[in-house]
Amino acid sequence: MRLTRYFMPVLKEDPKEAQIVSHRLMLRAGMIKQQSAGIYSWLPMGLKVLNRIQQIVHEEQARAGHIPVLMPTIQSADLWRESGRYDDYGEEMLRITDRHKRDMLYGPTNEEVITDIFRAHVSSYKDLPLTLYQIQWKFRDEIRPRFGVMRGREFLMKDGYNFDLTRDAALHAYNRHLVSYLRSYERMGLQAIPMRADGGPIGGDYTHEFLVLAETGESEVFYDSEITDLKFGSRAIDYDSVEQCQAVLEEFTSRYARTDETHDAAIFDQIPEERRRTARGIEVGQIFYFGTKYSESMGATVVGPDGNRTPVEMGSHGIGVSRLLGAIIEASHDDKGIIWPEGVTPFEVGIVNLKQGDASTDSACEALYAELKSKGLDPLYDDRDERAGAKFATVDLIGLPWRITVGPRGLANNKVELTSRRTGEAVEMSPQEAVSRLV
Ligand code: ATP
Ligand code: MG
Ligand code: MG
Ligand code: MG
Repeated sequence: MRLTRYFMPVLKEDPKEAQIVSHRLMLRAGMIKQQSAGIYSWLPMGLKVLNRIQQIVHEEQARAGHIPVLMPTIQSADLWRESGRYDDYGEEMLRITDRHKRDMLYGPTNEEVITDIFRAHVSSYKDLPLTLYQIQWKFRDEIRPRFGVMRGREFLMKDGYNFDLTRDAALHAYNRHLVSYLRSYERMGLQAIPMRADGGPIGGDYTHEFLVLAETGESEVFYDSEITDLKFGSRAIDYDSVEQCQAVLEEFTSRYARTDETHDAAIFDQIPEERRRTARGIEVGQIFYFGTKYSESMGATVVGPDGNRTPVEMGSHGIGVSRLLGAIIEASHDDKGIIWPEGVTPFEVGIVNLKQGDASTDSACEALYAELKSKGLDPLYDDRDERAGAKFATVDLIGLPWRITVGPRGLANNKVELTSRRTGEAVEMSPQEAVSRLV
C-alpha cells in the first residue's frame, strides 16, 4: 500500500478521552473511531489487524478439528426463556422488540442458539464428538464501557461449543481448547496464562481464564512466577490424543495462578516468597465445561450405544478477538508507539523514502516496493512529501516491525537501512539483501 493512497487518519495530539495506552495508540494510529459509547468503526489498519487475529484463530481451531459456523447477532427471546436465562441475564442484555411486538435480543453469547442447532440436527452418539465455533459480533450493554476496544459494548468474540457423549469426552474437548488457545495467543506474540477462575453455579475446576499480564488489566491475579517460564512453542500435538492434551493442561496448570475470584491466600502463602506475584491481568479468553446445563433444559439429547437417550455433555470457549488488539498493544509498545508482533502486524515492513521526488530514490523505493509485493509481503510505502522525522515518527507510531530507509546518500553505495522496531537495531545492506532478510 502507498501511504498517499491509503486511509490512515493519524492523530497528532493525544486524544483526551483515552485513559490507557492501547486506547490512545489505537486512536492516534487511526485504527478505530468511536461511534457511540463502546461502539466502534474499524478503520482500514484496525480492520487489518482484526482480520489477522481472526485468521490465526481460524487456523488454530481448524488444527484442533473444530468446525466454523455463523449464527445471527439478533436472537429470539424464546430460546432464552427455554434455558431460563432471559430473566437472569440482567441489564447487560440489549433487548429489542420487532414490529410484531416479538421479543428479540442482540446476542451477548450463543449457548442457546447453538443448542437449538444441535437438537434440530443431531440425535445419535455416532455424530459425536462435535465442536462448532464462530467469530461473530456480540453486544453486552456494559455499565462502564471503557478503554476503547478492551471493554466495548459491541465486540468481536470467538465462541466455540463442544458436544460430547460423556463427561470424559467433554473434558478432553476442554483440554483441546486449552491447547489450541495457548497456541493461538503465542502466535499473536502474547503470553496468556491460564488461571483458575470462578466456576459460578457449576463450580469445580473446570473453567480457566486466559490472562495477559498488564498494569492496566481489570483483574487482580495471583501466581507463582514459575508459570511465566512455560511456553507451548512449536511442539507437535495430536489433538485426538487424550493423554497428550491432558498432559498440556497439567503442565500449564501445575503452578498456582488464580484470579481474585478463586484466590486462596492459605495455598498462595505456601509458595516460596520470592516466587509469589500479585499483578493485574487482561482476560483475553475463557474456557468452560458445564455438562448438561443447556442440553437438559433445552432437550438436546442423543441416543447412546445402549439405545438410551441422554442429554449431551457440553462446554463453551471464548476468545476476546477485538479485545486482543488492546491487550497486544498494552503488552507491546514504547514511548514512540505500538510494536506489533510479526504474527499480527498490519504491514510487515514500512519503506521510508528520505527524498521524495528525487528520481533515483523514488525508483529505488518503487523497485523495493514491487519486489516485496512479488514475494508475497505486504509493505507500506511512505511516499508522502514529508520530512524524514515525520515519516519515522509515523512508522514508529503504527508499530511496523521493520523499516527500510532509502536515501540518496546510501543509494550511492547501493545501500539501504533495515531497522528493527523492537530493538532499534539498524543495519546497512543492499536493497536485495534487505528483501531476502524479510521474506
Ligand atoms: P469480563 O470479565 O472482562 O467482563 P467476561 O468474563 O464477561 O469478560 P466471557 O463471557 O468470558 O467475558 O467472554 C469471552 C471473552 O470475550 C472474554 O474473555 C473477553 O476477552 C471478551 N469480552 C468479554 N466482554 C467484552 C467486552 N465488553 N469487550 C470486549 N471484549 C469482551
Ligand atoms: Mg463481563
Ligand atoms: Mg470475566
Ligand atoms: Mg469470562
